[in-house]
Order: sequence, then C-alpha cells, then structure tokens
Amino acid sequence: MRLDVRLPVAIAIVIVSASCAFAQSHPYPATEVRDIYTRFLAQIEKIPIFDHHAHPGFPDDPDVDAMAAPPGSSPLRERDTNPELVAAAKALFSYPYDDLSPDHARWLVTKKAELKTQQGTAYFSNLLDKLNIEQSVANRAMMADYLDPKRFVWVFFADSFMWPFDNKHETARNVDEGVYIPLQEKMLHRWMEQEHLKQLPASFDDYLKFITQVLEDNQKNKGAIAMKFEVAYFRSIRFGDPTRQQAEAVYKRYVAGGVAAEEEYRSFQDYIFRYLVRESGRLHLPVHIHTAVGIGDYFSISEGNVMNLENILRDPRYSDTVFILIHGGYPLEREAIWLAAAKNIYLDSSLMEVVMYPAAFKDSLRQWLETFPDKITFGSDAFPYNNALGAEESYWLGVQTARMGLAGALAEMVAAGEVTDSKALEMAHRYLHDTAASLYPGKVH
Ligand SMILES: [Zn+2]
Repeated sequence: MRLDVRLPVAIAIVIVSASCAFAQSHPYPATEVRDIYTRFLAQIEKIPIFDHHAHPGFPDDPDVDAMAAPPGSSPLRERDTNPELVAAAKALFSYPYDDLSPDHARWLVTKKAELKTQQGTAYFSNLLDKLNIEQSVANRAMMADYLDPKRFVWVFFADSFMWPFDNKHETARNVDEGVYIPLQEKMLHRWMEQEHLKQLPASFDDYLKFITQVLEDNQKNKGAIAMKFEVAYFRSIRFGDPTRQQAEAVYKRYVAGGVAAEEEYRSFQDYIFRYLVRESGRLHLPVHIHTAVGIGDYFSISEGNVMNLENILRDPRYSDTVFILIHGGYPLEREAIWLAAAKNIYLDSSLMEVVMYPAAFKDSLRQWLETFPDKITFGSDAFPYNNALGAEESYWLGVQTARMGLAGALAEMVAAGEVTDSKALEMAHRYLHDTAASLYPGKVH
C-alpha cells in the first residue's frame, strides 16, 4: 500500500521538475551545457548547408570579384600565421606539416594543382561534399566554367551602373579607390558588351532600359539568383531620394563627357540605386548588400554603417524587394538584427564567423537566435586570398566556426531553459539551410 502511495508522488516530482525546466528561463546554464554542445555539434555536422555568400574560385581567376583586395591590416585570425589554417589544410588535403612555412606551403600549392588537373570541374564540387555544403552562392563578376551550376548559383555585382561618367575625381580620392573605380568601369563595359552596346545610350530612358536588360538577361539566361552591392567600398550607403528629373539632368550633362561635382554624382547614384532596388522587387531578384567593416585602410566604417540603410529598408515602396544584409552589419550585428523585424529583410553571418573566433561568434549568433531566428542565414565568405589560403581553406574555416558557434549558442539556450531540444535543432536547420533556400523558390534546393 505504501508503495502505491509513494509512486505517484515520485512521478509527480519528476513531471513538476521537467516542466519547470521550460516554464521559466534562467540566467545560469545547467552544468551539462558542454554535453548538450557535443551532442548538438554531431547533429549539426549532418545538416546539409546552403552557403548564402561565398566567392569560389582559383587565386589566378580575376572574375572572383568585381574589385581587388588592397593591402591593409588584417585582423589576427585572418593573418597567415593563424594555426587554424594548418588544421584546414590537414582536414582537406591531408597536409603532412605543422606549419605553413614557404617550403611547406609549396607542398600544398602543388597538391591543389594536381587535384585540379585530375578532377577538373568536379574539384570545387568535391570540396563542397567534404564540408557537407549542398549548394553555395558564387558571388563573382562572371561565372566560371569550372564551377558546376548544379552546386554553385551565381550572384552578380550591380554597383557599376552607378559609375557611368568620367571618374577622375572618384579615382583620385585615395589609393584604394584608384584600384576599385577603374574595375567598376571595366564591369560596366562588360555589361555593355553583353548587351551589344558600343557606347552609353544618349537618353536616360535608354540607360535605365539597358540596366533592366542586364538584370533580366542575367536572371533568365545566365542563372543569376540575386544581385550584390559592395557599394560601401566606394561611397556612403546613405541614399537620398532625388527625383527622376534630377537624375536625368545629371545624366544628360555628363554622359558625353565632363567631370560631375561630387554632389551631382551622388544624387545620380542615389536614383540608380533606388531604381535597382525597385527592379529587384519586380523581378524577384533579391538584393545582397555588403554591410560591415571592409578591407583596406581607407574603408569608411561610419559611412558604411548598416544603419545608414534604414531609410531604404523601411521604405514601403520597396516592400517587395528581399534584402540580405551580407555580413550582418558587423560589428553592429546586435543592432542589425532589429532591422530584420521587417518581413523582407534577412541577415547573413558571413565574414563574422571568420573575423570572430567561435567563442565570440557564439554570443552574437545566440542574440540573433533569441531575436529573429527565422531571419538569419549562413554564409562563409570563402575567397581565394592566395595560393596557400584559398577559397578551400576559407570555406572550411567558415563552416567549422559556424557549426561550433551554432552548437554552443543552442546548447546554452537549451540549458538556460529558453528552447527545447527539438526547437533548437529546427533553428539549426533554418540557419544553415532552409531560410536562405526559401528565398529562391525553384532555383535552389
Ligand atoms: Zn564577400
């Protein structure tokens, strides 16, 4: 009889304490947080990834970006002294050495060249297989024939339409612009060639038609899924709202020559940017935009501040345009997540998980997951920096850090009673794959 009485009490205690774990969140995680982390990490490694932002390619391929990287100060983790790069080379290529001294790095360069010859177009697809990346964005000036279109989807650069005039003043601002702006001119000429245009149209109307033609051509005939802006490298990302007449007047004045005053040029660019954003909504071709610190010693952090975009992002005229804030506004990612309150705004974590070590990235990601978990996406920002630190190693670094940061953030949230195990894993799937994939229906999987 006694047993009959005590058993329900014991069961009741178990039920009460189990429900308590989720009834009230608490600030101190349970001691088993590390165990939850280890369990989650194993499960997270099995989730096929959609990489929302990367620049795959070989170091000698000039089409990897529409601009070039100037020499500048690299943060600690991005220096070639980072021992994690040795771990990457070991994981990907069975690298036999424990450092990247010039002699040893040559082994790696030779190994990659051999594999490239043996595997051809499968080289980068095999790399994705190794890292369990199902598909990756290829944010490149033009697509490469050595990237399999089933695995790599193209995101093209749309900035160059904003620099059609004599750029003497723009180029002279500093040494970085001296490299960037001529590359924008080159990009604009490639678009003109693509549309069989020998010179810029005389009328503003026809210039806008030319822009639309490029967007449609890239989308319909070249498989592009989005357009990308890296405009923060070239000017402020605070855009005014000039009238069409104002922009047209500037175009007419300078299309055939003459150097526009900075104010006139900016106003023209503001109009073109807004035109592209509007066309993006009409064509269902999302806007990817660099919002973060940038490379080089002349990048303006204040002019590139993600909050400068707020008037565009919250403008009801662009509610049909899907915006992806590439690099999540870093180092203002904690403010930027609140921009994702609007239904058409998403964040991408690329660069963040390469600049930050897993411990710091975990904290940023946790805040995102606790705010708008369905508006955040993974990107690696893989890029072929040089022969030793290639797109291969940077894919590895991005993926590894994101998985560790994600497992850590979710383990803490479960231990703190904020979410259940199953909810945490659902969030992991969304961040690593589902949310980004849902933005390009029928084009990615
Ligand atoms: Zn990038």
